[in-house]
Amino acid sequence: MKRKVKLIFPTDRTQKPVVARLSRDFNVDFSILNAQITNGMHGDMSLELIGNAGDIARSIEFLRDEGLHVSDISRHIVWDAQKCTACGCCTAVCSTGALSINENAELTFDSERCVVCEQCVGVCPLNTLSVNYEA
Ligand code: SF4
Ligand code: SF4
Repeated sequence: MKRKVKLIFPTDRTQKPVVARLSRDFNVDFSILNAQITNGMHGDMSLELIGNAGDIARSIEFLRDEGLHVSDISRHIVWDAQKCTACGCCTAVCSTGALSINENAELTFDSERCVVCEQCVGVCPLNTLSVNYEA
């Protein structure tokens, strides 16, 4: 499974290499989505954790024991309706029906049906669909 988290490092934790231990000690791979860490100063880092659910849960417990604040990052799709030309390309890859063309030939987006699979993001020729991350 994959899980995106935001880490906040207190001032006295920015020099400890705790993130490096995720793969070594917990069998959890990670990619850094963004980071703003300066030694001796408060910092934050967003990670995508990849591994089995138990290993990821244990790795997060470890990070919290090390004094870091850990929160899940939620994702949602943002659609810029003003730029959309209702070409329909995105509806072809949306398996849940969250994106559809209505009887007026307009695109509609039902966020309740969206599972944030991100399939639509790359196919829009006008880049009107994007993923927003919030911690
Ligand atoms: S992220 Fe997936 S489910 Fe959501 S609108 Fe795009 S294709 Fe449909
Ligand atoms: S692919 Fe882009 S322009 Fe075309 S209908 Fe979907 S959001 Fe609109």
